[in-house]
Amino acid sequence: MLKVDLHCHSNVSDGAMTPEAVAAYARAGGVDAWALTDHDEVRGIKAARRAARGLGMRFVAGVEISITWANETVHIVGLQVDEDDPILVRGLERTRHGRDARGREIGDRLAEAGIPGAYEGALKYVGNPDLLSRTHFARYLCEIGACSSTADVFRKYLTEGRPGYVPHRWATLSEAVGWIRCAGGIAVIAHPGRYRFDRTAEGALFDEFKQLGGTAIEVVTGSHSPDQYATYAEAARRYGFLASRGSDFHAPGEGRVEFDKLPPLPAGVTPVWHDWF
Ligand code: AMP
Ligand code: MN
Ligand code: MN
Ligand code: MN
Repeated sequence: MLKVDLHCHSNVSDGAMTPEAVAAYARAGGVDAWALTDHDEVRGIKAARRAARGLGMRFVAGVEISITWANETVHIVGLQVDEDDPILVRGLERTRHGRDARGREIGDRLAEAGIPGAYEGALKYVGNPDLLSRTHFARYLCEIGACSSTADVFRKYLTEGRPGYVPHRWATLSEAVGWIRCAGGIAVIAHPGRYRFDRTAEGALFDEFKQLGGTAIEVVTGSHSPDQYATYAEAARRYGFLASRGSDFHAPGEGRVEFDKLPPLPAGVTPVWHDWF
């Protein structure tokens, strides 16, 4: 069976490795078909594609777009996008805008909480100056010993109600799905189990997404627990969504499950790649 991983990050967003190094890491982990899906960025795609082909992997051009829906941040993955599509490129540019100002404010708030210099510290981890992420702050806070893991930093400092949290308004659902479709891609709701929606709100998100032309959800992802693999396989069947699978890899040892330990999609769902490979 083909091993498919359609959700990974490089240092073009908040991953720790170059697109080429992620490709090699995926290949070494047994991946046969791979997508790079950097946050709000497609500027790693060409290098990733070249590297994947050199390693004998099938390649899918992807992106993970940050949106705000019902006052929550939600991530929409686009797969098989044309990375040169001007509407997509311009939309992503607009979405990235504001990350630096948010980062400075995160730095100010952390300083008030007794951790000075975090903005400058986070910048040391940034591979793309347009994509300063909370992940970069988390790596810096681990470096200085403020926390023992990135998950711990998010829990203590970077999520709502915590001292370093700065609210931000991203793109809309309709914009993200529109840009992806305009670029010839398939829109996928990333890690649906990670949002704090009740059943009603989640159903409303799925309905609206479907109405806008979204066709898939992630079922098996490094961001889901094994229980959630089953929950979202069932949701995919109920809503008629295709199912995607991806590690959400950022750096070795940083995720919930190790890169090559993610199970295959459960039976009874249609893989989003069913007619690609
Ligand atoms: P940003 O887009 O800058 O708000 O950062 C979001 C990124 O932070 C996500 O893509 C994850 O990589 C990471 N992240 C979010 N929540 C957590 C968490 N609870 N633990 C670890 N990483 C997280
Ligand atoms: Mn991330
Ligand atoms: Mn995500
Ligand atoms: Mn991701």
